Amino acid sequence: MKTVYNFNPGPSALPKEVLQEAKESMFDYKDSSLSVIEMSHRGPLYEEIHFQAINRVRALLDVPEEFDILFIQGGASLQFAMLPMNFLTPEKKGAYVLSGSWSEKAYQEAERIGNAYTLASSKENQFRSIPSVDYNQCSDDTSYIHITSNNTIFGTQWAEFPKKTNIPVFVDASSDIFSYKFDWNNVDVVYAGAQKNAGPSGVTVVIMRKSLMQEGNKSIPKILSYETHAKSDSLYHTPPTGSIYLLGLVMKWIEENGGVDGMKEKATNKAALLYDVIDNSNNFYVGHAEKNSRSLMNVTFRIADEALEKKFIKEAAEKGFEGIKGHRSVGGCRASIYNAVPVEHVEALAQFMKEFQQNN
Ligand SMILES: *Cc1c(COP(=O)(O)O)cnc(C)c1O
Repeated sequence: MKTVYNFNPGPSALPKEVLQEAKESMFDYKDSSLSVIEMSHRGPLYEEIHFQAINRVRALLDVPEEFDILFIQGGASLQFAMLPMNFLTPEKKGAYVLSGSWSEKAYQEAERIGNAYTLASSKENQFRSIPSVDYNQCSDDTSYIHITSNNTIFGTQWAEFPKKTNIPVFVDASSDIFSYKFDWNNVDVVYAGAQKNAGPSGVTVVIMRKSLMQEGNKSIPKILSYETHAKSDSLYHTPPTGSIYLLGLVMKWIEENGGVDGMKEKATNKAALLYDVIDNSNNFYVGHAEKNSRSLMNVTFRIADEALEKKFIKEAAEKGFEGIKGHRSVGGCRASIYNAVPVEHVEALAQFMKEFQQNN
């Protein structure tokens, strides 16, 4: 098989051990002669898969008992709408920190449902940095604060979240969940589409403070209410069983590979390999993000000479480096180096970048 170095932004690389285990057991699960994706979601075999996945998420992130862990469909994008539907009351406003395209989408969705305002933004800076944020500047009529922990498209990431005030804090962690631990005192909701750092597409992990959930709007459709999903352990209706099975395997793989702290250390080392090439290239490669906002998950850069950039992307693809072209909205190049991307693949890309510079 040809070596492919998978730097896709999402859906993205899964650990090869997970794919191997899925190959061996997904289609004949525990000698049941049933594949995971054709068994009843009400049966004991699937229930074990389901609750093991939930328990592993809880253990990996040290999620306290005051929080529920939900699996919901519809991607992170549905959460952009569900959060305001549940928690944005007519006389109040959602406060949004705009740090990239996904946070803008979340904000726009809130505005369709109720009132929202921008608490801080780095748009005028082409989203090169995480804006500085002071939660104390929120108006008194704020229902919640929404932030995006890692900006997948621009390649910026929060180094640390601000200390919480009395206003609930919601975090879209779609592209960096399971790469560091949260301080649960400073967040009330963490959500993530699984397809970047936690598994395949089709399932979204939502971790929510129970006391907040109880305050949710009772008059919205049942399927959109968090309480509905919490009350039935995310089995209110048919869950995406295959996706949850694979997510559970990824959780087990993280456990076996140093846990979330291990992932963080690996992410730091992998990102340094690429940022070092960029920083030592005499401006041949130009990083998009400001240094103090750099992401450990998505490394974004340009080649100063635009014609060379096309050549770079083409040659990278020929050599098996997948997904290096930047997002269509910003151009340039991006290497997504999520948890499952092996350090050897990042080393190979760093080497290719150095050689490309020498040859051009
Ligand atoms: C990919 C991404 C999304 C969108 O996720 P979907 O599951 O496709 O809806 C939202 N937020 C962030 C930060 C992302 O990286």
